[in-house]
Amino acid sequence: MSRKYMLTYCLRSIVGDWFQTIVDKDVSAQNAQALAANILDWLISSGVVVAERDDCVLGAESGHRPGPAVAAVVDSAAGDSSFRDLWTNGLAIVTERSVFDAGQGDPIAVSCPRCGTATRLVDDCYELIPEVWELFGTGIHAWAEGQDDAVVPCPSCAQQVEPTDWIWADDYFALGHLGFKFWNWPPFRPDFVAEFGRRLGDHRIALVEGKL
Ligand SMILES: [Zn+2]
Repeated sequence: MSRKYMLTYCLRSIVGDWFQTIVDKDVSAQNAQALAANILDWLISSGVVVAERDDCVLGAESGHRPGPAVAAVVDSAAGDSSFRDLWTNGLAIVTERSVFDAGQGDPIAVSCPRCGTATRLVDDCYELIPEVWELFGTGIHAWAEGQDDAVVPCPSCAQQVEPTDWIWADDYFALGHLGFKFWNWPPFRPDFVAEFGRRLGDHRIALVEGKL
């Protein structure tokens, strides 16, 4: 876990609600619901979340609160168990075409999956560079609107890359049809994230972390 995320987590009670979203970047719209159900079964049976749903998340009507075994999947050194007492501490599952983002701040850079070159999106003062950002923002918007053939040409190698394939610094963005959004949980243990990815069929995943 990076120092940045530790700091973000520790500040959450002061500045707002912190979330971690595990995003499946590969599952199709058709398969998202079934895969979501499989993962939820695993999370409930292993005690990570409870089966009952109630009003415990933001941006959705209801979610699943932490279960009795939640301590096994989060980094206890990063905080205590007080998140269990919060009103907003549930898991919300999104099963529709979505642009998941880190909430506050701007994306710093994005890397091409073909040539590996990182394109910086901000200047030395961390302001977005409009002409560079527009290229990617247009592609993301087109994909979000349902254009499956949208592409963004790589500024370095000029290959046409699908919006879903770009790799965002710090996982600022992730585009996909399935996301698991956990509210106000301490940072996940790396082995939990790895197991999550394995159960998602070894799909590419992103861990989008941020706050509202
Ligand atoms: Zn490239």
